[in-house]
Amino acid sequence: MSNNDCVFCKIARGDFNTEFLFEDDRVVSFKDLDPQAPVHVLIIPRSHYDSVKEVEDEALIGHLVTAAKKVAEKLGIKEYRIVMNTGPEAGQSVFHLHMHLLGGRAMRWPPG
Ligand code: 5GP
Ligand code: ZN
Repeated sequence: MSNNDCVFCKIARGDFNTEFLFEDDRVVSFKDLDPQAPVHVLIIPRSHYDSVKEVEDEALIGHLVTAAKKVAEKLGIKEYRIVMNTGPEAGQSVFHLHMHLLGGRAMRWPPG
């Protein structure tokens, strides 16, 4: 399912000719517009879900993680952070489920 008002649905459809670092039948991966680390990549399902809360398909969640690991390997980063902001208070600003892959610098904890 695709949402006409959703920028990530448009990216997944190829409307902006975005370069995909990884893609298959279920997910696509591309660089974040406003990178917060030397490596900052998003991995999203082709299907629209507002957030991870709407996903009942556990295999899809696993598939996103597997795709993130493949992208990390492709980009040569061995240590990284995977994040799924869920809801505005947690920092979610785009309401199409996405996983952040961040790496290439030391990370602090706890996050802000
Ligand atoms: P969130 O804040 O929802 O967890 O993450 C959304 C991310 O999407 C942000 O890091 C933001 O920079 C990125 N983003 C928003 N719009 C676009 C876009 O049109 N293209 C790309 N590549 N990234 C985007
Ligand atoms: Zn969408």
